[in-house]
Amino acid sequence: KQELGDDKIEVLQVGPAGEKGVRFAAIINMSTRANGRTGMGAVMGSKNLKAVVVRGKARPTAADKARLNQIAKWGADNLSKSDIAGLSKYGTAETIGANQSTGTLPTYNYNRGVFDKWEAIDGTTMYDTVLKGAAEGKQDREGHDTCYACTVHCKRVVEISDGKYKVDPHYGGPEYETLATFGSYCGVDDLAAICKANQICNMYGIDTISCGATIA
Ligand code: SF4
Repeated sequence: KQELGDDKIEVLQVGPAGEKGVRFAAIINMSTRANGRTGMGAVMGSKNLKAVVVRGKARPTAADKARLNQIAKWGADNLSKSDIAGLSKYGTAETIGANQSTGTLPTYNYNRGVFDKWEAIDGTTMYDTVLKGAAEGKQDREGHDTCYACTVHCKRVVEISDGKYKVDPHYGGPEYETLATFGSYCGVDDLAAICKANQICNMYGIDTISCGATIA
């Protein structure tokens, strides 16, 4: 984006993992979104394809623009009262507790389905401690991110400036799957360590699910 002087450019790329043929290399866009499964990053790397860069200029058309806008407004107005209000506030990390309660939280290489320390890695703890702006109570504005035009804003932005594991908000924050595989799956209850593992995977272009499960 800097090189071409256009911040509306979008980049789909592989990192060192794809270049070196790691079998669970991901394709990353926005530095935070991983097309993670099946090793597509290794496929791109094997073809010496480092990145695909696009710049859209045409506006999407809708068959009934007025009705579409009406529905979009209804969604935004009713989000806080809907079943997905928790997804908006706590992200997919909210489902750590749900999986714990049903015995389906992968734990100790899935030898168990419950993790005694689950509350240390769940969405509420993330919201209260590691989301960007949490220390000042500004995480609803600074600690969320969204995909294009989505009102849910379920993506996490983690910032940790102190301690053993510092985390750069540029690389977003872990989803449920990453919290589970690097957390309960490995018997790890250190949320900062999991967030750091998420950052490193996004930097190198690695699928967090396969990486955490392989370590477990
Ligand atoms: S479109 Fe993106 S921000 Fe919206 S709910 Fe889906 S993953 Fe979350």
